[in-house]
Amino acid sequence: MPLTKDGIKYVIGSLAHPLGGTLAERDAMLWSSVCDTYASVKIELPEGATREQFDGVSKIAKQSMDAYALREGVRLESFIIEYVNKGGTVVHTARFGAMAGASGAGGASGGPTQSEKAGSAKPAGEKQAAAESKPASGGHTPIPGLKQPERAVNARHIIAVGAGKGGVGKSTISLNIAVGLARRGYAVGLLDGDIYGPSMPTMLNLASLDAVVHRGMLQPFLTHGIKAMTIGKLVDADKPLIWRGPMAHGAFKQLTEQTEWGELDYLIIDLPPGTGDVSLTMAQTLQLAGAVVVCTPQKVAQDDAVRAAKMFQQLQIPVLGVVENMSSFVGDDGKVYDIFGRGGAEVMAQKLNVPFLGAVPITMSLRRNSDSGDPTSNFTPAKDDLAGQRLAKAMEDLVTNLEGQVALAGVRGGSGKPTLTIS
Ligand code: ADP
Repeated sequence: MPLTKDGIKYVIGSLAHPLGGTLAERDAMLWSSVCDTYASVKIELPEGATREQFDGVSKIAKQSMDAYALREGVRLESFIIEYVNKGGTVVHTARFGAMAGASGAGGASGGPTQSEKAGSAKPAGEKQAAAESKPASGGHTPIPGLKQPERAVNARHIIAVGAGKGGVGKSTISLNIAVGLARRGYAVGLLDGDIYGPSMPTMLNLASLDAVVHRGMLQPFLTHGIKAMTIGKLVDADKPLIWRGPMAHGAFKQLTEQTEWGELDYLIIDLPPGTGDVSLTMAQTLQLAGAVVVCTPQKVAQDDAVRAAKMFQQLQIPVLGVVENMSSFVGDDGKVYDIFGRGGAEVMAQKLNVPFLGAVPITMSLRRNSDSGDPTSNFTPAKDDLAGQRLAKAMEDLVTNLEGQVALAGVRGGSGKPTLTIS
């Protein structure tokens, strides 16, 4: 049986409140959310609650949730507890499992992480280097006339993913970057900023979930170890989304700023294809670490990608790198076919003087996992799934390269980014 929101509410609500009675009796069990085996709750503890009290409740909550999951025949992969005060502000976060490793507003993470246990967590020193190298400015200086970005989202690194045109796999790459980073222990948000054609409801299998507003804030969907928000769950899915400039601006700004992200290590933004209103809004309202450009190997796709890269540079957003998606086709037997002639994006990146982040092959499993909303499977192929193994390696390499470029962009503080004359 799957875990349910009500089941979680019941389990956590029955726990003892530090002041006596149960959390439910004291109306302290505020909110719960679940997708597959990823669960999260919001609990209100009284003002002045001590670290011991947070830890005590977290420990027993985790044990109870594990027991609940066991009863239902599943294993709890990720469990997040956000403690809020009366005003609804998150004062402490405890994370267990896939999203663990990044501390919440209150500081501590809740316990050993699965990734640490599995030995796949980032070496502490490396992770710290990436963390420390981020400048306070967010890595770029706004051009005159652009509104100085406010700190609208509490994320250490905000990365936009763009493409010159649709259908090149921009959403696929955004999602897998987000999941890949989360699997390394980072707290990751994914914003489906493709307001004209949101695809995250499908790619994250959000069909059965409703968008929840709590205390005036949209609650992100907690799934596959990430926090995701998409306009696709807020509007009629069957109606085409036609936004004019100012509406697109408003929709994007609202989605970004009115989602309760909590404290994030990374916020990945899947932009609409092409160049336009949303990118401009984003540059004006958010402090970006940089942008990733996705393209396919064909020449025409690269011409579009060059335009996208130049747009970012015009907006003073450093281009962190280029990803070549659908680089080759890998059959189920593991054999590689260069359908479009791969390597074009790498050459393009060299010409633009921006890093090449990696090549992702076309695989049946990636398409299948995207359609069924199961990105985690891209990282956990069966031993005999040769194409899946190549895909997982490509995704991991991509995430590693991106982490490196984010750290470098931080060190450069925007001053060392390549310059281009736009005519
Ligand atoms: P975009 O966001 O650029 O419009 P999507 O990420 O939505 O593109 O991808 C379009 C379609 O191509 C989706 O069905 C997706 O599953 C599929 N796709 C993308 N990249 C790959 C790949 N490397 N291998 C197999 N299918 C892919």
